[in-house]
Amino acid sequence: MQAVSAVLPFRVNDYVIERLIDPESVPNDPIFQLTFPQRGMLDEEDFRRMRDLVAKGAPEAEIKLAADEIRGRLNPHPGGQMELNVSRLDGEVVAGIQHKYQETVLFFPSQGQTCHAYCSYCFRWAQFIGDADLKFASREVDHLVNYVKDNPQVSSVLITGGDPMVMKTPVLRRYIEPLLRAKLPNLQSIRIGTKALAYWPYRFTEGGDADDFLRLIEEVKAAGKHFALMAHSSHSRELEPKMARHAVERVLNAGAVIRCQAPLIRKVNDNANVWAQLWRRQVQLGMVPYYMFVERNTGAKAYFEVPLARAYKVFTEAYSQVVGLCRTVRGPSMSAMPGKVVVDGITQVAGEKVFVLKFLQGRDPKWVNRVFFAKYDPRATWLSDLQPAFGGERFFFEDALREALAESARRS
Ligand SMILES: *Cc1c(COP(=O)(O)O)cnc(C)c1O
Ligand code: SF4
Repeated sequence: MQAVSAVLPFRVNDYVIERLIDPESVPNDPIFQLTFPQRGMLDEEDFRRMRDLVAKGAPEAEIKLAADEIRGRLNPHPGGQMELNVSRLDGEVVAGIQHKYQETVLFFPSQGQTCHAYCSYCFRWAQFIGDADLKFASREVDHLVNYVKDNPQVSSVLITGGDPMVMKTPVLRRYIEPLLRAKLPNLQSIRIGTKALAYWPYRFTEGGDADDFLRLIEEVKAAGKHFALMAHSSHSRELEPKMARHAVERVLNAGAVIRCQAPLIRKVNDNANVWAQLWRRQVQLGMVPYYMFVERNTGAKAYFEVPLARAYKVFTEAYSQVVGLCRTVRGPSMSAMPGKVVVDGITQVAGEKVFVLKFLQGRDPKWVNRVFFAKYDPRATWLSDLQPAFGGERFFFEDALREALAESARRS
């Protein structure tokens, strides 16, 4: 484990160990798989190399060098984030803001780029660790406000990380209040993406800072904006502890909506009954099922990935056994370079077995809700593995995407 965690850093807390993991079922326990590094996450060769370094007590610098090299090969910046999602104000690149879909701006506050515990499949926090400037940058907030002001098509700000709920409420306030004070008529909703309901529900229940967060929700509401927690919700186990249910109740009572999303992960939740139970539990508690994602092409993907064909099957079997109230969920969806693409069906068209794919979100809004077809491939795990059906040479969006990449290369 030490060898793996030198490459994919590991963090867990007492709450996760004591309340979420069932010690009797380790190592197969889903929350154990979700949080603890596993040998299979590294290539055999990489694993041996790290294990030998750790075993012979190699100097830290040498271990770090090897770890950096392995990490570099794990595609830490998937989906063209580095090239394509940059946002500009007066022609200058603005750090901490990603703008991919017309309506929504992603904001990465520099102080929210870590998490209460780390998901073993996630690489996101690693994109920021080390190069984040941890002192509060008020300029960041000015940029965000100006960006939303200058882009009237933006109606939603999604604060993300890492987990922004690692920030104390006064810090969160310094990001959110300027958005409210600016009275931006186009801004209709503020969202925070978080795993804290699962990993650290005390954030919403214990002490003055938790109370203060509930007041902040009320302030957003009083300013006439919608407030949503985008809860990363992987397994119904996370919603069993009394503390977690209490946290959900408090956040809802303050006037927020909680929308739930998570990737489909082998060994964690690759089972239709697990998802059906998860969605039922969410609805029972007043939360709204929102997205089932396909594990993206980063980090230890080979260990966690589920083929698209299987993801579709799991989704369909789960979806077909729940009440309509749960069917607000969409998936399985890939957050790929051109957009969020859902596997909407597997069928035969003109004698050819195909995936029916559809854009839920597109880099170009004209792509949204557009259906397209790919050759069925039982092993494919990502959009980039797929070929157009019916002998087509490329998907309809590929030329435009290539153009956008070339354009961003010219600009940088
Ligand atoms: C998913 C996502 C959003 C939010 O999309 P919604 O469908 O509005 O929830 C915004 N930006 C990026 C880059 C995303 O991946
Ligand atoms: S909580 Fe979110 S950002 Fe943090 S490790 Fe898990 S998936 Fe990644």
